[in-house]
Amino acid sequence: MVEKITAYRFERLDQTLSQLNREDCVIMAGGTDVMVLHKSGRGVPLKFPKPIVFIDHLSELKQVYQNHKDLHIGACCTYSELLEHPLIPFSLKNAINTIAAPAIRNRGTLGGNICNASPAGDTLPLLYVYNAKLLLRSVNGDRMVAITDFIQGPRRVQRFHKEILAEIILPSILEEGSHVVFEKVGNRNADAIAKVSFAGYIRIKGARIDDVRFAFGAVGPTMVRSIDIEKKLVGKNIPLADADIAQVVAAFDKIIKPIDDQRSTAVYRKTVALNLLRYFLSMKQYQPN
Ligand SMILES: Cc1cc2nc3c(=O)[nH]c(=O)nc-3n(C[C@H](O)[C@H](O)[C@H](O)COP(=O)(O)OP(=O)(O)OC[C@H]3O[C@@H](n4cnc5c(N)ncnc54)[C@H](O)[C@@H]3O)c2cc1C
Repeated sequence: MVEKITAYRFERLDQTLSQLNREDCVIMAGGTDVMVLHKSGRGVPLKFPKPIVFIDHLSELKQVYQNHKDLHIGACCTYSELLEHPLIPFSLKNAINTIAAPAIRNRGTLGGNICNASPAGDTLPLLYVYNAKLLLRSVNGDRMVAITDFIQGPRRVQRFHKEILAEIILPSILEEGSHVVFEKVGNRNADAIAKVSFAGYIRIKGARIDDVRFAFGAVGPTMVRSIDIEKKLVGKNIPLADADIAQVVAAFDKIIKPIDDQRSTAVYRKTVALNLLRYFLSMKQYQPN
């Protein structure tokens, strides 16, 4: 016998939040992770432990706007929508272009990638180096949390069941002058989950490094970032001396601890991660992008 699934699809965000306050539900945005997570055997209907609440259509969660130098991105913007949007930075579009194939990009959302908290989530290294903040909304109001605090482990986030991730805020991203790269290594250029990913951010004044950040994906339970290591490079001049590069690479060598799995080996992952870092640090020039 087919089991019944209770599903809600309210017109407005406030109605959706009220329902979440009354009842714990599975939030469904694009559903590209949720459907995989709840699949049963072949030909067997999906099983959901709780009612579903759809949020993908809510216009309140689909706005992209600028507030001073900060960029606000609605959690339910799909990848295809973000690719078309003039305010979305080139580096984020670059990362999005490596995600799955157009059909998934038409459904998958930025908020879903964050709340799914996969160690291989492709937007996450960039969101870490952008110091992304997340706006969580419930019937009790809003709260803001740094992405580094929100993501606690694979598929583990610091969200109360009555909360919805409403916006992703990228602080000062519309300020001039930073050079940002995203690199993903997978089995092929499209439709592949990352074996390793890397995001690098650098801001230079004259030849002096004003700010620098790195994050690695798919080499640990969450993104690997170390503000202590980054600080060692602030104030140095470009091009960096070989000894400075070697010191930073050695420091990450100690904290990157990947695993072997069906996609890659720990040795390959670490070698590639450190090569990407070395490549980024060895650049002779960084053009703002
Ligand atoms: C074939 C295939 C290929 C894929 N390839 C890639 C890839 O290359 N790179 C990659 O990073 N990912 C990939 N994915 C994973 C997936 O597409 C992304 O993680 C996507 O961003 C998920 O977004 P969604 O809107 O579909 O999330 P959903 O599946 O709707 O939700 C994911 C999780 O987040 C929660 N959630 C979603 N939105 C919110 C919100 N606003 N507030 C609170 N909770 C929320 C849900 O309850 C669920 O736990 C792939 C998936 C498939 C099926």
